[in-house]
Amino acid sequence: MAKVYFASARARKWRYEDSMPAKLERLLKEAGLMNYFSPDEWVAVKTHFGSEGAHRVVRPLFLRKVADALKRIGAKPFVTDTVRIKGLDYLEVANQNGINHLSVGVPVLLADGLYGKDSIMVTAGEILGKIAVASVIHDVPAMVVCSHVKGHINAGYAGAIKNLAMGGVSSSHRTCGWKCGRGAMHTIGEGELVWDPKKCELCYQCKDICPLDAITFKEDELTWDGNICWRCGRCERVCQSESLKLPGDDERFMRSLAEAAKAVISTFEPDKILYINFLTEIQPECDCMPMADVPVIQDLGILVSTDPVAIEQASIDLMLQSPPLPGSMATDKKIAAGDDIFKKLHNKPYMIQVQEAERLGLGKSAYELVEI
Ligand code: SF4
Ligand code: SF4
Repeated sequence: MAKVYFASARARKWRYEDSMPAKLERLLKEAGLMNYFSPDEWVAVKTHFGSEGAHRVVRPLFLRKVADALKRIGAKPFVTDTVRIKGLDYLEVANQNGINHLSVGVPVLLADGLYGKDSIMVTAGEILGKIAVASVIHDVPAMVVCSHVKGHINAGYAGAIKNLAMGGVSSSHRTCGWKCGRGAMHTIGEGELVWDPKKCELCYQCKDICPLDAITFKEDELTWDGNICWRCGRCERVCQSESLKLPGDDERFMRSLAEAAKAVISTFEPDKILYINFLTEIQPECDCMPMADVPVIQDLGILVSTDPVAIEQASIDLMLQSPPLPGSMATDKKIAAGDDIFKKLHNKPYMIQVQEAERLGLGKSAYELVEI
């Protein structure tokens, strides 16, 4: 049974040892980094840089603590993420969100190049076939996956598996485009965006939020470019009048997340990935949206494990025991204590990603929670 180390976000005493940074240091010590990483070994600290407006990413201070711990054992860490918008702009987003060489103490770089196309096709599974794993993540020998736990438009719940899958895969591939990258997971095919002009209020939020400029309006008519759209679903999410529909298959999507996570993990030798889930600022939306809503669950703490399935199960169990926060989207949706908050927020069968990851052999959902 995998151990999942946990440090609560509560600080009950007025001293540094009770702070979250100090607890993260202790968690990393408990996890025994020397068992996984070697002196001079390059280690990717994989996080999500966020978006312009989505500020609730894993805090740079925590990334620095991880990098410092790796440096103390002689490893050579760097902080990285895959490209979600144009690469130079994405590095600037990281910088605006406080993630830069100065703040984290190590280089900050893009895992799939400035154009988000530097990727290598890796066998994923029966749904995806092969998927384009970001070349840096493919080539680096070791990785610490730092995941901000939150909601997600398509995955419902986003933690380590989503960070591995969506975050370890490029948005596109040099030769076969979005169909081999993240977009392959989103629609598992080529779903067509359907627009209902009778419902449309011409607010243009769909156009503004599209990261690829796949939506344009001419004389109040929406035009959608299905060749460049990688089916992220953001336009559908922000449309308040429900004028947009992007067909998808939730179960296949969840299973494809697990497959893509498996493809990313397969590029590492065993025991070369450590997972850290940050159950902090648990907001309803992904950090790729152009805003961050207030948290729907109080800060719970930080989890560390070598098992991606166990850490997801432990994260979900902790959240299921937590009441919704007043004044949040949970209140808007009339979510009560004892409800499955993420299920009610997004109406997605999010547990399938965890169950499928276990079925594919990525880890075990049974775990021992070790609180420090
Ligand atoms: S799904 Fe919508 S927002 Fe996403 S790339 Fe396609 S058109 Fe743009
Ligand atoms: S977000 Fe919806 S209502 Fe607004 S312009 Fe797009 S389709 Fe129309």
